[in-house]
Amino acid sequence: MADPDKLRDYRAKRDFSRTGEPAAGGAAGDGPIFVIQEHSASHHHFDFRLEVEGVLVSFALPKGPSLDPSERRLAVRTEDHPLAYADFEGTIPEGAYGAGTVIVWDRGPYENVSEKDGQALTMPEALAKGHVRVRLFGRKLTGVFSLVHARLGGEDRNWLILKEQGEGADARRRPATTQPESVASGRTLAEVAAGAAGKGARRRRK
Ligand code: MN
Repeated sequence: MADPDKLRDYRAKRDFSRTGEPAAGGAAGDGPIFVIQEHSASHHHFDFRLEVEGVLVSFALPKGPSLDPSERRLAVRTEDHPLAYADFEGTIPEGAYGAGTVIVWDRGPYENVSEKDGQALTMPEALAKGHVRVRLFGRKLTGVFSLVHARLGGEDRNWLILKEQGEGADARRRPATTQPESVASGRTLAEVAAGAAGKGARRRRK
């Protein structure tokens, strides 16, 4: 069970009588998962979330993930989300916090491969030290990504995300634009926004 205080900011920002987002909940599985949600809010972005000790530690990626190891992209730390959020796909109504449509762009297990001087770090330790390394086992993204607490512009919430060399690295693939379908429903943002079942729609696994 997650420490309920971790979700205080999440709850404070939302009116659950208006939004269909989950207020809490979600069960841990056999191992930690990651999810990347595409979100057409006032500024289109992707939300990268990692299951850590009962919540989803979250970063907003204004430009989405890159598979090019030479590219460093901004990752803005945002409030922890409940585990149940990993299944959320839908439209947050006009006027509500984060108004716009959300799809589950990629999802899967991840492995924490964070270390310091050859010593393995837990995820909370790696987050505190400001260097997190995770191997993703997604449908679109695989291989090791690094998150570095670079504090760009003096902002404590500003991290950088980069793809490490090796498995999954590819300077030409642009999945953020060429693979727009939800891995949960097969629908694009536009199809979810229109309330339509996309041509590739599949039943959700649970
Ligand atoms: Mn978002």
